[in-house]
Amino acid sequence: MTELLLKNVRPFGGAATDILIRDGRIARIGAGEVGAAAVEDGCGAIAIPGLVEAHAHLDKSLWGMGWHVHQAGPSLEDKISTERRLRRELDIDPRRQSARQVALAASHGTTAIRSHVDVDTDQKLWCFEGVAETRERFHDVMDIEIVAFPQSGLMIRPGTLELMDAALANGADVVGGLDPCGIDRDPKGQLDAIFGLAQKHGKPIDIHLHEADELGAFSLEMIIERTAALGMHGKVTVSHAFCLGMPDRARAAALTEQLAREDIAIATTAPASRPVPAAAELRRAGVRLCAGSDGIRDTWGPYGNLDMLERALFIGLRNNFRNDSDVEFALHVCTQGGADVMELKDYGLREGAVADIVLVEAETVPEAVAARPRRKLVLKRGKPVARYGQPLFTVE
Ligand SMILES: [Zn+2]
Repeated sequence: MTELLLKNVRPFGGAATDILIRDGRIARIGAGEVGAAAVEDGCGAIAIPGLVEAHAHLDKSLWGMGWHVHQAGPSLEDKISTERRLRRELDIDPRRQSARQVALAASHGTTAIRSHVDVDTDQKLWCFEGVAETRERFHDVMDIEIVAFPQSGLMIRPGTLELMDAALANGADVVGGLDPCGIDRDPKGQLDAIFGLAQKHGKPIDIHLHEADELGAFSLEMIIERTAALGMHGKVTVSHAFCLGMPDRARAAALTEQLAREDIAIATTAPASRPVPAAAELRRAGVRLCAGSDGIRDTWGPYGNLDMLERALFIGLRNNFRNDSDVEFALHVCTQGGADVMELKDYGLREGAVADIVLVEAETVPEAVAARPRRKLVLKRGKPVARYGQPLFTVE
């Protein structure tokens, strides 16, 4: 039996208390008898559950490879083809780069990641295998879920479907998809194919949908129809869903109602550059919302740091959240929202839950989101994995 006592911490900024962790789970929140437990003094820090990165691309980042001078043109197709070319030219090794991102994410208090991983006819399963190796290597530091993601298109690249099928047979957790109209120009073909894979393997779906306005709404309706027809209620996530930010708010509201009805979740990055689904409207309708960093310093763009506390700030800014309760909801999206989508068992800051805990020095949760202080301590299943913004493990 291993025990750790977190003394003098404030769950969600509430009253100071102690958290006793036994064998990786929260055994007790509150004062009481303690045996031979190791002790960490929280000195009044706020305790929150581990942050959940629900939309990453662990196979893509150039983190640690020096500054990359951006080369891709402005269109989505330019970014996709430039990346395919540079993967081998720059040796963006998915194994090495995903390990570096695990350390970066852990240092910021993330304890679970859903990562889309490219599957295409050039790389074949190279990216999947690299990230799968990282998932295995760091299983005591990070829960990693892998989405088999047809980044270069599915119907326009024959052979991709078979590779996705192979990835799912070999341990990928989720079926990915991408702009069925904009990239494949065959929405029925792509959506039938990925829903078919999901049915075959008994896996959930997470579709990137960048398509704007009425085109995106059209694709979204086709996704909703298939979710209903195949009984995949609660098993489908749509990432980005920029179309829900469309100017026609009545149309967006009607789509939002349908998403709620089929329990289709939305993943957002809350980008400053695009219209996005309105978090408050999704919340009101009962649509589950999670968040992620998307690409981090990759051939798509120079930004990002995998800090989900900062992502909560971006959600707050993008949605004009000012009230404490709204800012707390932004953090909820980056914690429980992601945990729900990843179906993390026994997640949360409560007795009996897995002890994925982050300590952060702030007066209140909204202050923690606004100030984003370095994480004082990060526990994964009760074990310290990062302290004051530094991982306690090596990756190289
Ligand atoms: Zn993405």
